[in-house]
Order: sequence, then C-alpha cells, then structure tokens
Amino acid sequence: MAAAMEEHRRYLTQLDAAIGDADHGTNMHRGFQAALERLNGADPDTPADVLKAVSMALISKVGGAAGPLYGTAFLRAAGVLGGKGELSAADLAAALEAALEGIKQRGRAEEGQKTIVDALAPAVRAAREAADGGGSPEEVLRSAAEAARKGAEATVEMEAKKGRASYLGKRSIGHQDPGATSTYLLLDAAVRGLEG
Ligand code: ADP
Ligand code: MG
Ligand code: MG
Repeated sequence: MAAAMEEHRRYLTQLDAAIGDADHGTNMHRGFQAALERLNGADPDTPADVLKAVSMALISKVGGAAGPLYGTAFLRAAGVLGGKGELSAADLAAALEAALEGIKQRGRAEEGQKTIVDALAPAVRAAREAADGGGSPEEVLRSAAEAARKGAEATVEMEAKKGRASYLGKRSIGHQDPGATSTYLLLDAAVRGLEG
C-alpha cells in the first residue's frame, strides 16, 4: 500500500487539485511512509497489530480529512480480527465491513456523496458476496478491488456533498473523487500483496 501511494501520489494530488486543495496524494504518501516506519520499529504478532500500527500512523501524521477516516477504517478492521493469526475469506470480508462502518460513522457519509464511501461500499458488497460464495481470501480482495475501481469511476458523475469538494457544489461534477480513487488503489495493492 505504501508503494502504491508513492507511485500514485501525483495522480491523487492532481485529482484533488481539481475539486479540493491538491494534497491528497501527498497526504496519503506521508501517512503510509509513517506507517512503514512504525512497522519497521515494531514487532507485530497478528494482522490486527499491523492494522493498528497503520491506523496510528495515519491518524497522527495525516492532517487532511482522509487521515482520520482511513485511520478509523484500519482501527475498526483490527478490532474485528482480534488475535487471529491467519485470516479467512470471511475474516477479510468482515474486516472490510467494519472499515466501511467506521468511515461512514466518522465522516457521516452515505453512498452517492462523492467520497471514499462510494468506492468502499461496493467493495464491501463484492467482498461479502465472494466470501459467502466460497471464494478464497485472494478472490475476496480481488472482487473488492474491482468493485472499488468501478465505484471510484462512478464518482465522476456525482456532486460532492461532504468534504472540501462539496464547497464546489455542482462544479464538482465531472471529476473523479480523490479519496474514492485512493481506496481503489489501496485495495488493488492488497491484492498484489497477496499474489506476492
Ligand atoms: P482534505 O480534504 O482535508 O485536504 P484529503 O485531500 O487528504 O483531505 O482527502 C480528501 C478526500 O477525503 C475526498 O476526496 C473524499 O473522498 C474524502 N472525504 C472527505 N470528507 C469525507 C467524509 N465526510 N466521509 C468520507 N470521505 C470523505
Ligand atoms: Mg485535499
Ligand atoms: Mg488538505
């Protein structure tokens, strides 16, 4: 994920330049570099410990709206995984569901408002369907990433109702949401991580 945020930071910042304040790529890159640093100095025992470390880094190092939102998402995901050492397809779906609930609560956002939720909500539905259908953990994440990509693309037509882009009202239409796009890129990175 940190590598993806590094690779795509200019793209994410360009998207944010159109409807925000041109810092989303910088914010995400800074946050995930901080996560890497935190993990290098830590000795996490479980996936939940890794997610918690990422959460703390994002919350403490990212000033923008996205930092606390993603920080909450990682923390909630850690919460449902508890002490598990190995994650099943159902665990991954549950972790994504918890992440979405955390973001929706923290940001008071619903689908259709041109935010992270518009990528993550369809991703969660796809993950749940894949897990319930007997898919592998890899298939769960791949389904989620694919749905997030489509969800992020669908934000182009939406009018922003939350965050800075909402100040633009109808002028936010016609631009892809930066946060929905980073959600897709993070899930895509998770798939690549599993593929090795
Ligand atoms: P800032 O807007 O503070 O500069 P970023 O540029 O890092 O923060 O993040 C902007 C992204 O945050 C938006 O593209 C949007 O997807 C997401 N976002 C903003 N407000 C909310 C919210 N209330 N709920 C969900 N996502 C939000
Ligand atoms: Mg911004
Ligand atoms: Mg900002």
